[in-house]
Amino acid sequence: MPGDSDYDKQRAVWNAMVDRRPAAIAVCTSAHDVVRAVSAARAEGLPLSVRGGGHSVSGQALCEGGLTVDLSGMRRVTVHTGQGLVEAEGGCRLADVDRATAAHGLVVPAGTVSETGLGGLALGGGTGWLTRSYGLTCENFEACEVVLADGRIVEASSTERADLYWALRGRGAATSGSSPGSPSERTDSVPACLSLYRPEEAHEALAAYADLAPGLPRTIGWHASLKKRLPPYPFVPADRVGQPGLLLIAMWLGDVDDPAAAQLRSLTQVGRPCARECLVLPFADRVQRLMDAEFPEGRRYYTKEAHLRGLDEGAISEIVRFWGEMPMGGEIVLLSLGGALCDVREPDSAFSHREYPWWLEFLLHWQDPRWDAAYARQAREAVGRLGACVAPGTYLNMLNAGEGDDVRALTEAYGGPQKYARLRQVKSRYDLENIFRSNWNIPPADPRTRP
Ligand SMILES: Cc1cc2nc3c(=O)[nH]c(=O)nc-3n(C[C@H](O)[C@H](O)[C@H](O)COP(=O)(O)OP(=O)(O)OC[C@H]3O[C@@H](n4cnc5c(N)ncnc54)[C@H](O)[C@@H]3O)c2cc1C
Repeated sequence: MPGDSDYDKQRAVWNAMVDRRPAAIAVCTSAHDVVRAVSAARAEGLPLSVRGGGHSVSGQALCEGGLTVDLSGMRRVTVHTGQGLVEAEGGCRLADVDRATAAHGLVVPAGTVSETGLGGLALGGGTGWLTRSYGLTCENFEACEVVLADGRIVEASSTERADLYWALRGRGAATSGSSPGSPSERTDSVPACLSLYRPEEAHEALAAYADLAPGLPRTIGWHASLKKRLPPYPFVPADRVGQPGLLLIAMWLGDVDDPAAAQLRSLTQVGRPCARECLVLPFADRVQRLMDAEFPEGRRYYTKEAHLRGLDEGAISEIVRFWGEMPMGGEIVLLSLGGALCDVREPDSAFSHREYPWWLEFLLHWQDPRWDAAYARQAREAVGRLGACVAPGTYLNMLNAGEGDDVRALTEAYGGPQKYARLRQVKSRYDLENIFRSNWNIPPADPRTRP
């Protein structure tokens, strides 16, 4: 509670722009603790929030003046090797899961920064290096244990409360608690090829990337990352460290003995790289930590995602221009997802907008609070300049505080009026009083309108 010696430490989240003061933070160590905390908040009439990894830029893990159910004491991971299943508690960070699964030569498809919370990431979807082969994190849930608003602990799976299970795989309607179980894949080391381009070679390389990436097999993941300051990776020439650079990162996501893996190397021939390297990286220790040092806790963060219909010369020019001029740190990422992401039919998942070939992500950070408004505006304007390339909807996990307040935009992000209405129906069945609302909230439908 305020006044306790560790209160400020416990209320700090990844994004230093977020400065909220809950009335109390309940650090839970079991689902029963979560039940007690939820019941206490209801009894006291306090707003409630749930904190997973505390990594989201929106800061919805905390609620001003309310009770924060903090799951940081719930980070146990159990690997059931025989069944290929992983049981992870609701407060796990990606690193917790990676560490546990690596010991068995298994992985769970998740995000790219190891301190991200599995709970928030997976409830919003979950994209990462493995998406093209294995789909979103949420698609790999077998079952979720959920603490409901009325204090019951229930299971949601394809056979138990299938409506809730559907809604959780794409955004939590009424959740708190623990244990998404997830099948994993046998991929403990990943062949990777990286090529680096100076800013003046970036346009040409991105044009070739835009041409080639959509035609690649799903066993190849290929990310373009326009970095403001290159980290000291061993293959980066000394004079490029700390300088802007475009990195094309290709990974082979299939069987390592497959002769087709050789085509990874040909991708380093694209454009005119100033350095390139092919190597095999241990997944948990290297691949999943590749980006960690570039995104430290406690900076001021702004993230923005846009689905793109296409990546033409005009869009590439705008992106490269913004990157060249941007005063803040971080990177702009272009992802060619597709593959397994598009295997799921639209109505089968609460996660929408799978069909767009390109995801553009701004992951920006700085330290001086005086720049907050101007830098966020600059990023929004940069996306605005892409015009007709930008498709409807956005990735909810990248929305910042206040950006989901527009109901039309939020409805679109959830997949349009029909999908949104279906989510509202599920919400009304499990959380009619909207107890769990410190999220990109889906207001419960009026129960009289239930089909
Ligand atoms: C630098 C950076 C890199 C990123 N990289 C990726 C990436 O590679 N892939 C990707 O998909 N996303 C990425 N993200 C976005 C990330 O998925 C979201 O920030 C996500 O919300 C973080 O989850 P969390 O649990 O850490 O966050 P929190 O802030 O704790 O929670 C976010 C939301 O989820 C809810 N929540 C969290 N856990 C639970 C739970 N167990 N039960 C119920 N509700 C819960 C919270 O109440 C809150 O509404 C990135 C973000 C940043 C800042």
